Amino acid sequence: MGQSEGYGTVPQESEALSPDAFRRAGHQMVDWIAEYLAHPERASVLPDVEPGALVDRLLAEPPARGTDPSELLAEFERDILPHTVHWNHPGFMAYFAAGGSPPGVLGDLLGAALNNVGLLWRSSPALAELEQVTVGWLGRVLGLPSEWFGLMYDTASTAALHAVIAARQRAAAGARAAGSELDINRIVIYASAEAHSSIEKTMAALGRGVDACRKIPCDGEFAMRPDALRRAVEADLRDGLAPIAVVATIGTTASAAVDPVDEIGDIAAEHSLWLHVDAAYAGAASMLGGLRHHFRGSERADSYVVNPHKWLFVPMHCSVLYTDRPEEFRRALSLTPEYLSSREHPRAVNFMEYSIPLGRRFRALKLWYVLRTFGGSRLASTVSEHIRLAQMLAGWMDESEGFRVLAPVHFSLVCFSYRPNEASDAEADEASKQMLERVNASGEFFLSHAVLGGRFAVRVAIGNLRTSEKHVRRLWHLLLSIATELRPSRQRPGNEEPWGLGVQSMR
Ligand code: PLP
Repeated sequence: MGQSEGYGTVPQESEALSPDAFRRAGHQMVDWIAEYLAHPERASVLPDVEPGALVDRLLAEPPARGTDPSELLAEFERDILPHTVHWNHPGFMAYFAAGGSPPGVLGDLLGAALNNVGLLWRSSPALAELEQVTVGWLGRVLGLPSEWFGLMYDTASTAALHAVIAARQRAAAGARAAGSELDINRIVIYASAEAHSSIEKTMAALGRGVDACRKIPCDGEFAMRPDALRRAVEADLRDGLAPIAVVATIGTTASAAVDPVDEIGDIAAEHSLWLHVDAAYAGAASMLGGLRHHFRGSERADSYVVNPHKWLFVPMHCSVLYTDRPEEFRRALSLTPEYLSSREHPRAVNFMEYSIPLGRRFRALKLWYVLRTFGGSRLASTVSEHIRLAQMLAGWMDESEGFRVLAPVHFSLVCFSYRPNEASDAEADEASKQMLERVNASGEFFLSHAVLGGRFAVRVAIGNLRTSEKHVRRLWHLLLSIATELRPSRQRPGNEEPWGLGVQSMR
């Protein structure tokens, strides 16, 4: 409110938010979004910007007076959009997709309009109940055990933290039942050396430090070795530590490796460890009957997480944790201040009792829109097509000189290196880095990297709604032409750069 305006004075700027102004700006924006989503490839997938450029452009003065929202769209296009990475672009293959979808946008829009805050059932019955319905549907579409209870969090990282808190809760109760106390300063958890960093972070968040997450060595396919897990648990027990949980990953971040969940489940059962399964990315693929073997043993999980915001076309901030032990979450985290106390009712679920944040957005609406618009069969056929495309690309690489697929293609991720003739390991790493850099400079594709078995790997993560065979063929042609550029030029004796790599390096 302006300084000269007293209470009760309506500032003129509020006219900009009249229903008519909203309608005008809203129609304009929906048209803009429809056009953008129809042609996400019109822009370069990566912006050509340096850090701080947008801050320098916009920071000078806070807006003293309001602007009509219909004018802001032009400003958005001019000032903000050029700094955007286009996650909806069919050439976006860097990280696991979060491409969203038009129905997801609609669901988010309605959620923002209602702006309900899910605290307890009473604060938004629709939010509480639609969340139960949609996570239940999703569980069935994914073939998960029907008795599992679903909890929706913003991210898989938050879900993992909640799982470890529930594990600690259960371990404390177990210790009490056995007549002792759990020493929380001695708790340790286990995950493979390839597990996502969010798992280690849970231990940092709980005050134990990341080393309290034991990183278990992997086999040649980057999957956890159960023998090494068993030895680590036994060693920690001998040292008087308190193992409480193990995390098995189905679809690791670097290479989409699959941990042997069943064997890990045996060790978890033997030592009363909570089994958390991180299927944040690959969980979408359990819809496909032909891939169920990758998920064997996951029905034994105490908690299991899948991110609809990764490979199920739901906009960002939709991660679902399933558990058959919701009471452990509730015991650990239920703390109801007086102003929120309510009459208990067996059908009134208060999600605030199962999570650290009190309020929650109406996220279920975007999941509802996506599930209702696509239906399970269209979701399954899209995911299945992405896997076919990844396997097709890997097949071409297998048959081409210099390209090497570095990890099994279980899902829709291909990790490869490029080694020109007779190049050493270090030279192959450099050639692969160069290939990545040149692809990303093309503006057509955005790929990322990992280090697998000590070697630099380029990651091609397919999972965008708009990525089709045409795009994967185009990527392959681009890779082949870069390979030709990178081949050694033998005609130039004394060339300091035998692989013709030039002087550019990874930034
Ligand atoms: N788990 C795996 C296997 C992942 O690949 C990722 C992110 O890519 C995460 C967890 C973290 O996901 P979120 O961003 O939802 O926390």
